[in-house]
Amino acid sequence: MFKKITFIIASPFVTVGAYTSYRSLLPQEKKHLHIVFDLDHTLVHTEKKSHIDQINSKHIRKPDTVYHDYFVWKRPFLVPVIWTLSQFATLHLMTRASGHYANEICYDLGIGRYFRTINARENKASNGVCKDVTTIDKSIDPQNIILVDDLKYNCCTGQNMYHIPPYYVFSSCDLELVKLYFYVLMWYLKN
Ligand SMILES: [Mg+2]
Repeated sequence: MFKKITFIIASPFVTVGAYTSYRSLLPQEKKHLHIVFDLDHTLVHTEKKSHIDQINSKHIRKPDTVYHDYFVWKRPFLVPVIWTLSQFATLHLMTRASGHYANEICYDLGIGRYFRTINARENKASNGVCKDVTTIDKSIDPQNIILVDDLKYNCCTGQNMYHIPPYYVFSSCDLELVKLYFYVLMWYLKN
């Protein structure tokens, strides 16, 4: 049922995504967007199994994957939105978590292949007070890079950010990734 709903909602995105992708091939298109995603509470919610066991877990949906002692849930519309965005923007991941955790989770959830780079704790790009998104590729104009993160302080001064409210599996309805999709679409229409 959920898969059916996801497909129905994703269909118009695919159409608009294809159109935007076509537009990006036209000569007048000058800008190409790089989106740098945070992982925890932006794309997924990870929670220790013991925490879930302690609370009434009857109303919490089944986890989408498991990482050691942790349950992991993907944010609603994660796969269709990431796939669609990857058709006309370059996607990156920047997290303060370990590279092993980030890679395992992203590939288990079917989104790993859509990220050109995965910057984790070991890459030191996010070891400072904020996440320096220019480290993904110094040749990219910083104006064409947007950080999507649930924590405002992760954005360095002068960089672009889309602040996404944190995701928790306990949320009854979450359309934040759909809103992000339309934000990106508007960015392309303006640029
Ligand atoms: Mg986060």
